[in-house]
Amino acid sequence: MQYLPLGQTGLTVSEVGFGGIPIIRLTSDDAQRVVRCAFDRGITFFDTANAYHDSEDKIGRTLGGLRDQVVLASKTMRRTSDEALAQLEQSLRMLRTDHLDLYQPHQVSQEADWEALTRPGGIADTLLAAKEQGKIRCLGVTSHSLDMALRLVESGLFGTIQFPFNFIETDAAERLHPAARQRGMGIIVMKPFAGGVIADADQAFRFLRQYPDAIPIPGLDSVAGVEQVTGFYEQPNQVNDADRAEWARVAAEVGSVFCRRCEYCQPCPNGVLITPAMGYPIIASRMSTDVAVNFARRAMETVPDCVACGECLPRCPYELAIPDILRRNYALYQEHCRQVAG
Ligand code: SF4
Ligand code: SF4
Repeated sequence: MQYLPLGQTGLTVSEVGFGGIPIIRLTSDDAQRVVRCAFDRGITFFDTANAYHDSEDKIGRTLGGLRDQVVLASKTMRRTSDEALAQLEQSLRMLRTDHLDLYQPHQVSQEADWEALTRPGGIADTLLAAKEQGKIRCLGVTSHSLDMALRLVESGLFGTIQFPFNFIETDAAERLHPAARQRGMGIIVMKPFAGGVIADADQAFRFLRQYPDAIPIPGLDSVAGVEQVTGFYEQPNQVNDADRAEWARVAAEVGSVFCRRCEYCQPCPNGVLITPAMGYPIIASRMSTDVAVNFARRAMETVPDCVACGECLPRCPYELAIPDILRRNYALYQEHCRQVAG
């Protein structure tokens, strides 16, 4: 494992970090085992968020006694200064620390987010004041919108930008990363597996390791997963034409309109299990039809409860037409059910 400067933030991080979403589904003991394994295998950069349920607490319980050996990052989705500050204080408590190395307004994508963040006396000013008080070492930001991410970089307010990047979503390499580098910003890569769409971790990391100053933070929920990913970094990266062809093949198969399983759209007031139902075509392409139908049944049987109210739509950072996609996926599921029935 190598340790690299995170842009010109003054922070030094392991060349791969740890994303804190998937440990939500683990017990506290299991989560602590996974986080501890990541640390023991050389990972020093841990990214979580106030919105990730008890992820901060699990990371804090594990790393509280190792504070001076790790770089801790968290995020807030709140859009008023008072609420953002309250969440910062909560993050400090949960992570058992008196300062965060990196704090990031989270999922800044819409005009209203920009306004709340950048207006005089807005969240950026408030959090920069918290930085002056020593509660934050660096103010960063995250977005899922390329145009907004470029605007955030150009604002000069932030030390890091966190944005999706993988061999299916490559836009960042052409426009965002060069702009961030030019400003000395740290580049953090979310969704290295495209939200679970990329099944082959080896291929995912062969691609990403071509960009060593863009630090991926894969979400990991098992010791085996940690060992696999850190194992990639024990050898030099080698990319050949067959890898490039495979990336192009998968990217063409998936297209640009796909669910990244971020779960921001949930909960649905009518009980539709949106995220697993959105991913049905991917599941069906990876399993035999009878296995896929049984695997997805519980989620797919909630889809008819969708009344197309649209409540989930503004919550999806990728602006997916959720009710329409759910309807199409349900039709595919029904077709598969008929095939299985015989
Ligand atoms: S559009 Fe459908 S899935 Fe979305 S919130 Fe409304 S009922 Fe739920
Ligand atoms: S539909 Fe959108 S918000 Fe919901 S999980 Fe998929 S990408 Fe995320």
